[in-house]
Amino acid sequence: MSYGGIEAGGTKWVCAIDDGPGKLGETLTLPTTTPAETIANAAAFFSRSNGLAGIGVGSFGPIDLRRSSSTWGSITTTPKPGWAHTDIVSALSAALGLPVAFDTDVNAAALGEQRWGAAIGLETFSYITVGTGIGGGGMANGRLLHGLLHPEVGHMFVPHDRTRDPFDGVCPYHGDCFEGLASGGAIRARWGKPAEQLDDPAAWELEAEYLAFGLANVVCTLSPQRIVIGGGVMKRAGLLDLVRARLRGLLAGYIAAPELGDKIDDYVVSPALGDRAGVLGAIELARRAALDGG
Ligand code: ZN
Repeated sequence: MSYGGIEAGGTKWVCAIDDGPGKLGETLTLPTTTPAETIANAAAFFSRSNGLAGIGVGSFGPIDLRRSSSTWGSITTTPKPGWAHTDIVSALSAALGLPVAFDTDVNAAALGEQRWGAAIGLETFSYITVGTGIGGGGMANGRLLHGLLHPEVGHMFVPHDRTRDPFDGVCPYHGDCFEGLASGGAIRARWGKPAEQLDDPAAWELEAEYLAFGLANVVCTLSPQRIVIGGGVMKRAGLLDLVRARLRGLLAGYIAAPELGDKIDDYVVSPALGDRAGVLGAIELARRAALDGG
């Protein structure tokens, strides 16, 4: 029995078929163009494979995860042109005749890390990605975090000292929310160059401070046993250490756990699966949905 997975991102879709637990078989990366074309290309890839038992999708969002909703399985209010109110699950299941499991891209990646990566054995942890935007998911008590819709870690509010940083932020909804101030898109807009070309130490101090504010809020509200943090911005050498130090300073010893003291290097960690976490997790979503009877 094999399963397919899609990491459905705003710039690319990674489609893959499993080759045993935690292993990727045939993989195809597609550019995210129009919904109809992207979904048709993904369906064509999976339709060439015989014997698939289901597909899992970890999607960019926001998405509708309310099982009682008539629009479950859809992207909702995304600012990405053409993609608002796209019913991904119905389109894929109609094209392939297979059950389709659906969750956020970050929850899929969290699931991958929990099965095979940096969160093995943990029941309550957070997975955060800092790329073009900021997203966060994870598990609470062994279950992927949902709720009213799903967490929107990128859109929490963090302190913004406009004297030090007069930048208004890039979030089209909130301006200077966490994503608005600290995402790769914010870095590009504030400094006029992408994160991988930014070498100003003061700029990275500011970035580390915003990331630490965000992580402090996650620690205080969700009490994760570990935070796995990845994404393109986090590939900056030395950034993770700056964030750990600032986080430890902000929490000021209040939370009496060695994870937020001497052991913080094991508490705020990089993803172990790298760029494969999302698609491996999407495959695992499909497998789990099949075991649960859909
Ligand atoms: Zn926002």
